[in-house]
Amino acid sequence: MRVGIIGLGNMGGRIAKRLLDQGVEVGVFDVNKAFMQTLVGLGAVEAESPADLALKFPYVITVLPNVYIVKEILTGQQGLIKELRPNSLLIDMTTSIPSVTKELSEMLKTKGLRMIDAPVSGGVKKAEDGTLSIMVGGEVADFEEVKPLLNFIGQNIIHVGEIGAGHTIKALNNMISATTLAATGEAMALGVKLGLDPTKMLDVINSSTGKSFSSDFKFPNQVLTRNFEIGFTLDLMVKDLKIALSMAEEEKVPMFISSASFQLWKQAWSNGKGQEDHTAIVKHIEEMFDVEIREKTISATS
Ligand code: NAD
Repeated sequence: MRVGIIGLGNMGGRIAKRLLDQGVEVGVFDVNKAFMQTLVGLGAVEAESPADLALKFPYVITVLPNVYIVKEILTGQQGLIKELRPNSLLIDMTTSIPSVTKELSEMLKTKGLRMIDAPVSGGVKKAEDGTLSIMVGGEVADFEEVKPLLNFIGQNIIHVGEIGAGHTIKALNNMISATTLAATGEAMALGVKLGLDPTKMLDVINSSTGKSFSSDFKFPNQVLTRNFEIGFTLDLMVKDLKIALSMAEEEKVPMFISSASFQLWKQAWSNGKGQEDHTAIVKHIEEMFDVEIREKTISATS
């Protein structure tokens, strides 16, 4: 298969490399020329613009920060829509707003072009290993057509419904993930304040009912070690929470727990942590509790 990829950041860059490693012919475009050159060095074909990529590749994957950039990539001066061939298929892996995705899909349909939404979950390590979860919205036939390609990228690939359904479940998943991370952060910080060893706390939580991906993976690898390595920025997590809460608002339903969690994330964000990894929410909680959740140490910061 031959595929063009637009957006070569933390996720897109790794997805492109993974596809190249699997022998797929890959074209690349990113406004960041250095990211593009790294992949060209690994065998990718460089495109001058989204339109140039559309001209060369029948399938195009977008992995961009948000839906407004996806729209610009589609309809801008050198946008994809200028050169996409009839029957081309756009696979949008951006975490996005479902209602806008539906509008973009409708617009493409009027020009004989196809689109599915296929956002991913799992983080940069799973992108490297090709073991992401992929949630797909769109026509079943389009999904089946690109499944061999998606199999190179992900392990759990689920068609969830019509166009926009993938983006819907993705925002809901991240709302759970953000809330769980924040709640685990508060519990861990309080435990440390009460004199408990964070490593032993995690041993208990991870063999008890409080276990989550946050306690099992993020705390041992990113918090206790204090590396907080960038994989998924706090900016992007705040975006995802906004999408989930706006969907609830459109449906006129309350979201008590997630709204409270969002306030905490927004506070960390307005305190300047947007460009850090999203696990910096724990640093924000630590600052409020005046503790540090560090491996085998129990210490107050002042
Ligand atoms: P990122 O900021 O690391 O990468 C985005 C890339 O898009 C950058 O390389 C940037 O230069 C490029 N870009 C921005 N505007 C552009 C434009 N107009 N034309 C071409 N390229 C442009 O973001 P990321 O972490 O890779 O996330 C990408 C998407 O995947 C987001 O929607 C995010 O929510 C989602 N996502 C990320 C993760 C993760 O762990 N990082 C996990 C799941 C989903």
